[in-house]
Amino acid sequence: MRIDIATLFPEMCENVLSESIVGRARKKGLIDISCRNIREYTNDKHRRVDDAPYGGGMGMVMQAQPIYTCWLELCKELGCTPHTIYMSPKGKTLTQQKAAEFSSYSNIFIICGHYEGVDQRVLDKIVDEEISIGDYVLTGGELPALVLSDCIARMCDGVLSDEVCYQDESHYNGLLEYPQYTRPEVWEGMPVPEVLLSGHHKNIEAFRHNKSLEITRQLRPDMFEKYINMHKSDK
Ligand code: SAM
Repeated sequence: MRIDIATLFPEMCENVLSESIVGRARKKGLIDISCRNIREYTNDKHRRVDDAPYGGGMGMVMQAQPIYTCWLELCKELGCTPHTIYMSPKGKTLTQQKAAEFSSYSNIFIICGHYEGVDQRVLDKIVDEEISIGDYVLTGGELPALVLSDCIARMCDGVLSDEVCYQDESHYNGLLEYPQYTRPEVWEGMPVPEVLLSGHHKNIEAFRHNKSLEITRQLRPDMFEKYINMHKSDK
């Protein structure tokens, strides 16, 4: 899959995307993530990409033209229209399920806003959906776009060593993950739960599932109730 991020700060994104699991996946060609500098697409001779809001008020608004030209050039390059996402605090909150849906697309174009946001007209023209990473406001869409890209990338084939790596984690099946332990066997007087040393796979699986249920009930009663209602008919 391919993700193109339109941003005024490509280096900020590139630095993060070059590290760790996502960086290695990009190097191996398992996922293609590119950053496009919106400023490169402006028709303004002073390379301006923003202007004051009509109607007055604080701050600046990103203009429609550079973002639209950037999108048009990408469409031409791809020979198709990418699924276009605007990172926005007004959007639908990102979930694991949404990221899984995105990971099945071939091409995604992510727009990072800045300042007061983006001229609504270009959003109306090209954006398929707006995605938020939570009910708070950041200075720009770069961190949200990186969160989204990371979340999508780890669900693409080959990026993690096995798909169990993400299927077993919090949120994938509607529960939070069980606690994890590693060496030493006893730390500060606290031993690792005995069952994990038993080598008995069925008992370990049951222990982990019960812990998942317990932790979800404690920390996220909303998720727990949903999970129980969904699995009522399994009993
Ligand atoms: N004026 C906008 C509003 O009140 O909805 C906020 C603009 S914010 C300062 C600048 C940019 O940061 C937005 O255009 C968006 O791209 C990004 N952004 C900020 N918070 C975000 C969030 N929670 N999720 C996704 N993107 C966010």
